[in-house]
Amino acid sequence: MNKFNIIRQKVSEEEKQQRIKDYIEEMEFFGFPISETELKRLQQQDLYDEKIHLKCLRCGHEGIHDWEFIDEVWSRKSPYPSIYCPKCGKGGFIPIDVYNSKRNK
Ligand SMILES: [Zn+2]
Repeated sequence: MNKFNIIRQKVSEEEKQQRIKDYIEEMEFFGFPISETELKRLQQQDLYDEKIHLKCLRCGHEGIHDWEFIDEVWSRKSPYPSIYCPKCGKGGFIPIDVYNSKRNK
């Protein structure tokens, strides 16, 4: 069984305030203004971004990508996500932990 890690990064206070502001504007736009209670809850909550470190089996290109996106395109038919490499355009852009365990065999 292959394992891979998701990197959880706490969103900075500035970024959090910006996102709350955007969220409030968006909800008002759609006619669902946010209540004081809801706003308070948002302010007290810590926000996290989830990222994943991927590496290409073919060309060795690596990068950190949003887990949300990778999770969406991962069909779950394989034990780990494998997408097209943004550099060489071929399949086999996989989590670095899986990459390392394949390379160490
Ligand atoms: Zn590549």
